[in-house]
Amino acid sequence: MMRGTKTLMLLAALATAACAKEKGDTVEPKVMKTDAEWKAQLTPEQYRVTRQKGTERPYAGAYWNHKELGTYSCVCCGQALFLSDTKFDSGCGWPSYFRPIAEDVVVEHRDTSHGMVRTEVVCSKCEAHLGHVFPDGPPPTGLRYCINSASLAFHPLAAPPPRERPLAVGDAVPAVFLETAGGETFDLQEASRRQPLVLIFYRGGWCPYCNAHLSRLREIEEPLRNLGFRLLAISPDRPDKLKETAEKHHLAYTLLSDSSMHAARAFGLAFAVDEDTLAKYGEYGIDLEAASGEQHHMLPVPAVFVVGTDGIVRFAHADPDYKVRLDPDQILAAARGLAGRP
Ligand SMILES: [Zn+2]
Repeated sequence: MMRGTKTLMLLAALATAACAKEKGDTVEPKVMKTDAEWKAQLTPEQYRVTRQKGTERPYAGAYWNHKELGTYSCVCCGQALFLSDTKFDSGCGWPSYFRPIAEDVVVEHRDTSHGMVRTEVVCSKCEAHLGHVFPDGPPPTGLRYCINSASLAFHPLAAPPPRERPLAVGDAVPAVFLETAGGETFDLQEASRRQPLVLIFYRGGWCPYCNAHLSRLREIEEPLRNLGFRLLAISPDRPDKLKETAEKHHLAYTLLSDSSMHAARAFGLAFAVDEDTLAKYGEYGIDLEAASGEQHHMLPVPAVFVVGTDGIVRFAHADPDYKVRLDPDQILAAARGLAGRP
């Protein structure tokens, strides 16, 4: 049986290569290794799953409950396959994603084994068996790529390089991942490609100036939406603190958690709170570690950015004086300017 499968795989590989040649495409050479080579490279479980189409036990793999930000690649050939922001909690006991990192990194095969008709998913580069895809996933694709942990290797996301000065008009939005109040990963660059954004950086739900500003921003949420904009407010607060803030001030727009301060650093807004200020905060009952769930004692300079769908900053405002906040009308005017609707 193994021999038959291997022959089929080889034929499939040759067919793909031939096809690509006819179209004049250049294809990356496929990774082809002998069984002995795969056995030497992989653990017995990885070999059984990827090269013999095995399935790991549910709730037993390394990644079914894994929530770090980063990339999942093929354990056999290293091709990047899935991003953490497309991973969701399917409850099935295997890591589940609603789409691969790119269309051409996986290949689908009809699988009629075990008396079922399923769609097998393999790595396009080395034909490693990854798992199956089912049509019962969440939006936006409605697909559930149910993948064996043993087929994957995880690479945590490197922090984007910090900036000395705040992002200014003409700068590109950096690649940063945030977390929603519900604990979902949020890809800021991807969001900016979908629609223009108004980004608010605030210090936290513990700050009365931030709360007053967040409340006032409700006034412009609808006009912004009518202009096609999405309003997002980012702070170091951890997700459950975001939920508290949204409920307390009846905010319908999206609050995002930047606990790691990766976004604030990449936007050039992060600063370390000095010891005296920390002591003073302590007297007021403000606990930055409790707010962010981290130990960095960093805060962002409050700021506002208007970003086009090309990912370029069109309007920027940052004031180190935390008591000074931009008037919502000025934010709306900046959005109107970008939308070409004064
Ligand atoms: Zn592979």
